[in-house]
Amino acid sequence: MTPPLLSLDGVSRHYATKPSVLGRLLPNQPVVRAVQDVTLAIARTEILGLVGESGSGKSTLGRVALALEPPTTGKVLFDGTPPGDNLPAFRRRAQMVFQDPQSSLNRSLTIERILESPLVVHRFGNAAARRERIAELLGTVGLRADMMRRYPHELSGGQRQRVGIARALAIEPAFIVLDEPTSALDVSIQAQVVNLLVELQQRLSLTYLFISHDLRLVRWLCDRIAVMYLGRIVEIGPAEALWHAPRHPYTKALLSAVTAETLQPPEAAGDVPSPIRPPPGCAFHPRCPAAGPRCSREAPRDVTANGVTVACHLHDGGVS
Ligand code: SF4
Repeated sequence: MTPPLLSLDGVSRHYATKPSVLGRLLPNQPVVRAVQDVTLAIARTEILGLVGESGSGKSTLGRVALALEPPTTGKVLFDGTPPGDNLPAFRRRAQMVFQDPQSSLNRSLTIERILESPLVVHRFGNAAARRERIAELLGTVGLRADMMRRYPHELSGGQRQRVGIARALAIEPAFIVLDEPTSALDVSIQAQVVNLLVELQQRLSLTYLFISHDLRLVRWLCDRIAVMYLGRIVEIGPAEALWHAPRHPYTKALLSAVTAETLQPPEAAGDVPSPIRPPPGCAFHPRCPAAGPRCSREAPRDVTANGVTVACHLHDGGVS
């Protein structure tokens, strides 16, 4: 079997709630459990969607996957190797597209300088070769080469996000984390950018971790979907399986909010609990319409059936 391109094994990411000594967490210090014991693997050329409410830990997980933040515990492997073993080589192969192209592009630089920066960092050719590469990159994302002379504020939101994608592609990565890449764009532009991402993924054999709160989009775009709640993956499986037959009550609640077009309140009432003091047992139990006595006592384990892994007592002996 071909090994995954990226794997996370028991990865957690905790933050101190107060300044800590030399950035280290102290014993018994209150922490924000942004990501908690996540194990998953992304195959080459796969698109894995990561969904969940705000504050569920999606973006933190994306940053840990890209070695922009270290895991507090657990292991990240890229192509079978920890990113830290050769960080410059890893940075060539793993990139990010940010949510807001307005703030992720330096306003004081021309598009040419913005796109040249990763080429210079990774020692790509001489000035002429870099200029040629920048023109090629702009063509790849559907922009004219003469746009390299403009500044970000002279472009539309959709054009700026195309520049953000071109910057991520500059050094021919294999893996890209896309963190809500269309949510800051007008609806009319979103489809164009999504179509571009699909075309690039197929043409360049890219692997995506696609972070989004838009379940319809993720269903259409992704091979598999992982659902995150309070730092944990509560369900993961093929996109169509999760869409048509969700197993975890939280996945069902997310889907009911989408399919009801928000005319009905979602099944999961109330706010997301604090990640500093997550509820005992199953962290979803205070909001879960199916919760039973076992749910507040015991954390559910992962159970896999027919390619779908779910962490819920309903699928592992019941909630009584
Ligand atoms: Fe709901 Fe219990 Fe399943 Fe958690 S374990 S999702 S509380 S039924």
